[in-house]
Amino acid sequence: MDAGHNAPEPRYWEKLRTIAGILRELEGPIVVVSHVDPDGDAIGSSLGLARALRTLDKDVRWIAEPPRFLRFLAREDEYADPVEHLPEGATLVVLDAAEPGRVAGAPVEGFVVNIDHHGTNPRFGYLALVDPSKAATAQIVKDLIDTLEVPWSSDIATPVLTGLITDTGNFRFSNTTPEVLRTAAELVGYGVHLAELTDRLQWRPPGYYKAMGAVLSTVEFHFGGLLVTAHMPPGVSVEDSDDFVGLIRYAEGSQIAVFLREREEGVVKLSIRSRGGLSAQAVAVRLGGGGHVPAAGATLRGVTLAQAYPQVLAAVEEELRRLGYI
Ligand code: 5GP
Ligand code: MN
Repeated sequence: MDAGHNAPEPRYWEKLRTIAGILRELEGPIVVVSHVDPDGDAIGSSLGLARALRTLDKDVRWIAEPPRFLRFLAREDEYADPVEHLPEGATLVVLDAAEPGRVAGAPVEGFVVNIDHHGTNPRFGYLALVDPSKAATAQIVKDLIDTLEVPWSSDIATPVLTGLITDTGNFRFSNTTPEVLRTAAELVGYGVHLAELTDRLQWRPPGYYKAMGAVLSTVEFHFGGLLVTAHMPPGVSVEDSDDFVGLIRYAEGSQIAVFLREREEGVVKLSIRSRGGLSAQAVAVRLGGGGHVPAAGATLRGVTLAQAYPQVLAAVEEELRRLGYI
């Protein structure tokens, strides 16, 4: 991927002011959604914005299906059901969705505001604020809530901070900029119970730990150890399996890690991580997916797990050659 793909949005604050102005004036329903397989940033940024807009007495519908480990963030009465059509006169605010096809819970139609930080986002929607220099969509939502002049509370700050925590890998990844740390400090200052929040975010169901053993028994090294792979063995299924790529990515000597999971028959989801100048994003794009340079993903259709492996190896090989590793 060219670097320009991840360049900051030059009219960031101008666009934020435009979006804030529009949201403030809206009288119709505001439908807030994010992406399929939502992560902490998808849930955190959308719930934070939904709560902020509710304080402005807007008719807000937050449509989300959080994974088990994030469900503690929201109350039962905060959810709205997925819709096939938007309500009359509604505005759709889409958060953290890299492409229109990944939007979950509502059709991408009518007046769409697209707020995201994925470089591969095609800037869909009537208004698109896509800033790949931001660590998380939650960072953009933090700035939007400031621009809306909504008073901060721990209720609003907690999901927003969650997005920052999860997308920076607990403030460890290269996207952990001084801006991220300053924003996190500010959000903690609004009354977030940080230790409680980070503890809850790590809770996993008991079956997860059994599955971890099964996954680790599939670890394989390729290209002299430059690539490490693992998959979810057929028959093993567990909620909150998305972070299994994190179990293998620190294998010494590896530059790329790929975790494969057959989501349903013929549909294989890939989680890809990279370091050392290699681009997980470039590998993902070759396989029809997208994401960020160090963390990306793709969904292969019409393949079994066994058929997915050669495709992954070919895409990774191309990336290793491009950078002169092999
Ligand atoms: P994860 O591996 O954690 O699911 O995803 C890592 C990153 O890649 C996320 O930013 C996510 O949005 C992106 N990503 C994951 N799966 C896909 C996919 O199937 N298509 C696209 N375009 N992006 C994906
Ligand atoms: Mn994100």
